[in-house]
Amino acid sequence: MESDICFEEKFTKEFFLGFIKLHVLHHSTKGPVYGLWFIEELSHHGYKMSPGTLYPVLHQLEKGGYLESFREKVAGRLRVYYEATENGKKALEEARSKIKHLIKEVLYDRE
Ligand SMILES: [Zn+2]
Repeated sequence: MESDICFEEKFTKEFFLGFIKLHVLHHSTKGPVYGLWFIEELSHHGYKMSPGTLYPVLHQLEKGGYLESFREKVAGRLRVYYEATENGKKALEEARSKIKHLIKEVLYDRE
């Protein structure tokens, strides 16, 4: 079972990391999100992702200026929330048209 998870996560990292970044941007433009919420959200979409994989992605997006974070105490523990910056919103907007083209070609075989 353990190796299945490893394979699945490796596969996710290799092919869908970009999807995951865009998915993070999508939700973080609507309001603050945090790591565990997002892991749960991804699992509903069929992606298995551990904190060890997701957190570096969030940090990378923050470092790149696409997300900004703030901390809030929830039930006695500090939780880190992420929100899209203006650059993050722009990146998502630009990605939308690329996603549209990719979907047309990959799903419907149209140029
Ligand atoms: Zn979602």
